[in-house]
Amino acid sequence: MIPFVNIQAQRNAYRKELERAEKAVLDSGIYIGGPEVAALEDELSAYTGTNAVTCASGTDALTVALTALGVQPGDEVVVPDFTFIAPAECVARLGATPVFADIDPRTLQISPESVESLVGPLTRGIIAVDLFGQCAPYEKLREIARRHGLWLLEDSAQAFGATQGSKRACTLGDMAITSFYPSKPLGCYGDGGAIFTANKELAQKVRMLANHGSEERYLHRIVGMNSRLDALQAAVLRVKLAHLDDELESRKKIAERYNQFFSNVEGLTPQQVADGNTSTYAQYTLLADNREEFIAKLNKAGIPHCIHYPMPLHRQPCFAGTASQHAVAQENVADMISRKAISLPMCAFTPIEEIIGKLQEVV
Ligand SMILES: *Cc1c(COP(=O)(O)O)cnc(C)c1O
Repeated sequence: MIPFVNIQAQRNAYRKELERAEKAVLDSGIYIGGPEVAALEDELSAYTGTNAVTCASGTDALTVALTALGVQPGDEVVVPDFTFIAPAECVARLGATPVFADIDPRTLQISPESVESLVGPLTRGIIAVDLFGQCAPYEKLREIARRHGLWLLEDSAQAFGATQGSKRACTLGDMAITSFYPSKPLGCYGDGGAIFTANKELAQKVRMLANHGSEERYLHRIVGMNSRLDALQAAVLRVKLAHLDDELESRKKIAERYNQFFSNVEGLTPQQVADGNTSTYAQYTLLADNREEFIAKLNKAGIPHCIHYPMPLHRQPCFAGTASQHAVAQENVADMISRKAISLPMCAFTPIEEIIGKLQEVV
């Protein structure tokens, strides 16, 4: 059985390094913070060229970043309609209102035109998501943010390691976040996340917020939370970070092989990677004109698949009240894409020729 993401093959490939790093942490007696976490933060900062602060998950990273940016009850924050729920959820958790922007039908990224149309007097900021591993259209988003005096937060949970022009993911807005959830392109063995910003003051605030509002033990300057990365996760991430660029290269080759195959198949169109972007291929996602039929073929061939995402956020029951306040078009692009999108197995260890062979038999 082909796994959708082969985390075990990855562990086998780096087993010696991982076991050495894991044992060193377990024997050290330092399990939260400490030198491993500090070293990882230095490496993440060096990789991206900005300041990295780790925390307990990508979702926490969003909450901490939004709090540092000053999100208040009653504020509006524009978020993409087609993504994982976390960005909208974190906005709502802070008492603010997520306003859902439509997406581009080819790249599936947030549409700057839609964002612009939703900016109003209560709008404070924009969260853009680097969906499926490629960066959102930041040049246009930054311009809109500047013109309206909004902040721009990059949710790069799926795109750590991607590039846009000469810039790296996690450096494209005022702040950025990523997630180290196990199946993300850079994943650990539990929950983990990080916040990025070039602004030293914001970085310091973020660090304080994630550590009980404290810089000095038992002195709490602001009301914070407990959101820290374990030393064990940091040690695992340091091993995997050293292999990340090679893995991204493998992912790209696998995606190119899929693209080559599907270029001759009608009714199955890969997500387009915009000019100037490189993708981490957090997901390899196709738009299927007839998804039911394609799924039946994949099942017959024994190829695993996932639907990212079956419903736009504005249709989620938890946002029923919010969405109706902001007339989302009866039928938007996100609706259409949620009926067509389907993701195929993708990781650096995906047996692509075996999958192509199986596809050839059914497609
Ligand atoms: C995975 C993900 C998150 C949340 O990350 P966790 O570490 O699982 O909390 C946030 N945003 C997006 C776009 C994601 O894909």
